[in-house]
Amino acid sequence: MNAAIISVGNELLMGKTVNSNLTTLAPELFSLGIKVKEATCIEDSETAIHSTLKRLRDLPLIIFTGGLGPTVDDTTKESVASFYDLTLSRDERSLTRINAYFNRVGRPMKDANLKQADFPDNAYILDNDRGTAPGAIIPVNGQHIVLLPGPPYELRGMLPALKSYLTPLMDATYYQKGLLVVGRGESDLEGEMKRFYEGYEDVDIAPYAGTGEIKYLFTSSSKSSLDKAVRDFKETFKTAVVGTHEKTIEEHVVSTLRDQNKTIALVESITGGMIASRIVNVPGASNVFGESYVLYSNDAKVRQMGLSEQILSQYGAVSEQCVYDLAYHLHQKSGADVSLSVSGIAGPEGGTDEKPVGLVYFAVHHEGKTKTYKRQFPGDRSMIRIRATIYALYLVNKVVLHHED
Ligand code: ATP
Ligand code: MG
Repeated sequence: MNAAIISVGNELLMGKTVNSNLTTLAPELFSLGIKVKEATCIEDSETAIHSTLKRLRDLPLIIFTGGLGPTVDDTTKESVASFYDLTLSRDERSLTRINAYFNRVGRPMKDANLKQADFPDNAYILDNDRGTAPGAIIPVNGQHIVLLPGPPYELRGMLPALKSYLTPLMDATYYQKGLLVVGRGESDLEGEMKRFYEGYEDVDIAPYAGTGEIKYLFTSSSKSSLDKAVRDFKETFKTAVVGTHEKTIEEHVVSTLRDQNKTIALVESITGGMIASRIVNVPGASNVFGESYVLYSNDAKVRQMGLSEQILSQYGAVSEQCVYDLAYHLHQKSGADVSLSVSGIAGPEGGTDEKPVGLVYFAVHHEGKTKTYKRQFPGDRSMIRIRATIYALYLVNKVVLHHED
């Protein structure tokens, strides 16, 4: 089934509000096998809504977000009704719920809110537990017109009901799997991906590139084709495939360490605590994580971690020797099963021909061995630090899972 997401709101067109309702809705629809063919922002006006509906008369599913509020500028529902010649009448159940909402928050309901309980007779109401405006699904003209409120928190609350309504309307069942890939760039993979795009005609493969990581989503109506493509992908890209896309890289790291009953300690220079912060994001992190040192200056690295002054003067803080020494000392100090250190040049200043901005060294001590890694990351200061954080987490996962020496 094809769909359009139409976000109504002048504030979106002025660039004041980011259209996060689109990023919430589109993947949810995609997971049901619904293809979003168009996503547009339009004005809060009857004219804009009518011309959109006219243009999309043949599309089976149109989802509007925004404009369900009590004020005169909120016209989405009224404009949809006038376009299809539908009469709005008061839905007593919705009115009771809106009243109850005002009672809960201790404010009197205003007359303006009454219209939020008005719907066409055949509308399926999407209850709003988080605000005043109910949403609705209106079957009309062989289409389904969905009305959702603008506030993202309220909209998210309606997703389960919307999805249960839409699922039986789908013509076929779709299967979907996603994989998280770290350590290789999209353009670097694209050459090898050609074989997948061409070889698996009944599998839709879509990459979603983020900073430092890519998610590949596989969708197919054939479970066996889907499994085959996913298996082939894992065999082709081996250790770059971290696991399911539903988990973040730090969730993968924490579960890998937990499975093996291992702990991790960190010395962070360029990442300034970002790796620790990511790990602590994961519930249950305390089972695997005990300490992290943010050692930014050379002096701190020497004082706190016993980094050799000779290494600093001979090779510098951004060097293989430095991260090796830090990871080794960290292991001695913390006794953790995995000790990771990271040091690099985030820029914009401080780069040289020999050591350009974006150069990052990592060292991982694990099972009695310390191994170093060197990467050159693109991007600005913030991107380099994010990439270094993700790559460090990726290294830990890889080293622990594959017992790399
Ligand atoms: P309300 O009852 O709050 O008026 P509404 O359904 O009429 O709800 P809007 O008036 O269009 O919705 O938007 C309310 C608020 O929701 C906006 O100020 C904005 O902060 C947020 N919002 C609206 N549309 C979007 C969107 N597409 N993405 C993210 N936020 C949005
Ligand atoms: Mg509004």
